[in-house]
Amino acid sequence: MLKNYMEDVVEHLLPDVLAKYDNVCKCKECVDDIKAIALNNLTPLYFTSRKGGVFNKINEMEAQFEADTLKELTKAMEVVSKQPRHKV
Ligand SMILES: [Zn+2]
Repeated sequence: MLKNYMEDVVEHLLPDVLAKYDNVCKCKECVDDIKAIALNNLTPLYFTSRKGGVFNKINEMEAQFEADTLKELTKAMEVVSKQPRHKV
């Protein structure tokens, strides 16, 4: 199965990032928007299996992915918190 590894990184980091920001709406709609915006700004990284060389290489690079992902999640939260798609 084809999978975008960045989705996992976003899922993994989002709860921590959300916990640090009180002023952002945490309903499903806004959280999905935050994920979508962040993932659109991150380079997708597809792999076909959790086993094998590609994934091992990804693990070694994980710290850099996390730093980039945190930056994009923070930016995405600012966008959504200024313009939530629903009425407040
Ligand atoms: Zn919301």
